Amino acid sequence: MKRRDLLKHATLVVAGAATNALSIEGEASIGDEPSQSRPLGKIALEEHFLIPEFVGYFTETYPNISPAIREFGAGVLQDLGDKRIEVMDKNHIDYVVLSIAGPGVQFEKDAAAAKRNAKMANDFLAAEINKRPARYGGFAHLAMQDPAEAANELERCVHELGFQGAMINGQTNGEYLDLDKYSVFWERVAALQAPVYLHPGNPVDNPAVYAGHSELWGPVCSWAFETAAHALRLVFAGVFERYPKARLILGHMGETLPLNLWRFDSRWLVCNRGSRTLEQAPSFYIKRNIAITTSGVCSDISLRCALDAMGAENVMFSVDYPFEKTELASQFIEQARISEVERAKVAAGNARRILKLPLKNG
Ligand code: MN
Repeated sequence: MKRRDLLKHATLVVAGAATNALSIEGEASIGDEPSQSRPLGKIALEEHFLIPEFVGYFTETYPNISPAIREFGAGVLQDLGDKRIEVMDKNHIDYVVLSIAGPGVQFEKDAAAAKRNAKMANDFLAAEINKRPARYGGFAHLAMQDPAEAANELERCVHELGFQGAMINGQTNGEYLDLDKYSVFWERVAALQAPVYLHPGNPVDNPAVYAGHSELWGPVCSWAFETAAHALRLVFAGVFERYPKARLILGHMGETLPLNLWRFDSRWLVCNRGSRTLEQAPSFYIKRNIAITTSGVCSDISLRCALDAMGAENVMFSVDYPFEKTELASQFIEQARISEVERAKVAAGNARRILKLPLKNG
């Protein structure tokens, strides 16, 4: 039986056990609402892993990160066993959607090898998910060098392997996802209604503004601006106008987008837009087609802005494991100065809906 069918047939009853994780064998549900007697059950979506064959691709991020973090490639990223589960349990994270730590095959110069290795990574992840279907889901790893093949692989991952969507690590060979060649991909994303998590990656060039400032090259600055610009390319190219059912997910509290919605709408009217047109204001598409996660941002100020700008339906908890501390991220969302209704949506409810995870009550 395919995993998706298994999930359909799951018995969805709240368990009184230590975890609320979904169990397709028995009885449980993913991410319960908070109550005085039970901790806040959470679902997390930007949780990374590596396989030994991908450590070489991961080294491409070395200029962006500290030497201590490089060691994750050979260690914690490759653990999909009890240690990872222990961290989840300790912090009441019921379910995580796993993804390759970038850039993966998007950095592969041999397109045939990229396709082969992407399939290998997805098959590996599927096998791990099958060992713990109540705790692990997956985002497909795709060779964006070939958009039609990426669409086919996404479909295979969703339909045959039971994955929830895909994660894409920025540009591929200097090409961004708004280009015409990717229409075949977006068409399939919309048809499958499988969200695409756009994760930071480096551009192919090294803009002069970062020269002499290695601290800005990566998570402090360049990744957010690169990813925000990539997402805006999709908005202004009309990708979401053409594919209203396509959904993008951005990490890191929306990669600065929520803060700037008003200005996007205001300056779009007076900018040098060439022949570009949009039927609606840019913010309309951002709020309709983009959801964000709290990965790597534990700030009440940022969360309030995100909830108000994007809507409470569009913000989801995440950690960015192992690059961020699970305990810190979990305590943040458990104690954030937001309403309990908002907290339940952010912790698990929105993820259940957007990723089509089994619901507690059917
Ligand atoms: Mn990440």
